Amino acid sequence: MSNAHDPRRRPPALKTLDHTVAAVPLLQGRVLLHEHARNIPRPRLTLDDELSGVVLTGANADARAFQLRTAVGYEGTLLIDSAAYSTYTATAEEPFMAPPDELFATVDDSLNFQKARGATAALTPTGYIPPASSRALKAVMRDANRIERADTLVSLPIDVAWLNRENIGQLIAVCAKIRHPKAVILFRQFDPLEQAKDVPANLRRLFTEVEHMALLRTDLAALDVLAHGALCAGIGVQSSLRHAIPPDEKAQIGKRGGGPTYPHVLMPQLMCFKGAESLSNLYANVDPATCDCEECDGRGLDRFFLPDGDTRREADNHTIATWSGWVSEMASYRAGTERKTWWRNKCTAAVDRYALENQRIGQGASSRSGFQVPPPLKAWATLPVAP
Ligand SMILES: [Zn+2]
Repeated sequence: MSNAHDPRRRPPALKTLDHTVAAVPLLQGRVLLHEHARNIPRPRLTLDDELSGVVLTGANADARAFQLRTAVGYEGTLLIDSAAYSTYTATAEEPFMAPPDELFATVDDSLNFQKARGATAALTPTGYIPPASSRALKAVMRDANRIERADTLVSLPIDVAWLNRENIGQLIAVCAKIRHPKAVILFRQFDPLEQAKDVPANLRRLFTEVEHMALLRTDLAALDVLAHGALCAGIGVQSSLRHAIPPDEKAQIGKRGGGPTYPHVLMPQLMCFKGAESLSNLYANVDPATCDCEECDGRGLDRFFLPDGDTRREADNHTIATWSGWVSEMASYRAGTERKTWWRNKCTAAVDRYALENQRIGQGASSRSGFQVPPPLKAWATLPVAP
């Protein structure tokens, strides 16, 4: 910066919130954007400060957060997800990962550090909680309840098997006994919500029965839990940030070999994410579906099958603008039955459009190459709206 030495242009000192400032009112009702810290931190213009915010994750998330606060002057809601769960598995003795380079560092130090870097609230560095590891889950509860702060979210990076019929009861019981707000992150290759038939219903049950629950690093499940009383949620900007992978596994990518990866684009009418390559193929010989968001301005959704950074950014902005619009719409309905009914009807209308769109683009009803309704969307469209 050319005027870095001009004292009038010095960025204002970082205003931080101490541990007595409660997390709950600052996060209530928000859908945050879960972003990787390696991207240059500039706030997305499509994010609404009243209803959204940012979760920075990955190596250097703290440094990027600090930069976003000081150099860029971002004043919105911000969380730092150090993603301890990507390398560390929770044990009955040590459910939280201690900072590796400091011998006597405590969980409190890790929480204070996030706040000093500008975080709105602090996330515990919980390790990955494997399926059926009750002792690790209970250890999280034990250690979390020793934390004497108002600003802390206890992160619960759980394998999706915790949402199965056999385990959901115990998960709910433990969550209800943790006296801080909680942030669930679901682990499994591909879409965790597609792993078993009752997962969407049980996830909803968890969020209905336990107060102050957040769901981070997810996809449209963010809106489902928010409609059903979640504290807040976070949607990943890329598919790798819409779920997480256990520490000892490598991400399995749908296609063979290396080569460039293309964005997955949120389809506004169908309410699903679809890869840029398959959109380009599906719409090769017909008019593409178009979008009226501020990024697309009526243009076709087949235009993102290019490997450059600008295209990816444009695709991401389209996706963010699309779900942000839904979050604002949801906020205009009263919490409770009104909001749940709106969401159910929106999902039903989306499900009903698949056959029409497949027919329009010349894909038969039984074709496996057209658009397929994602099982979670089908569940959200059909599960009963409890009062
Ligand atoms: Zn768009």
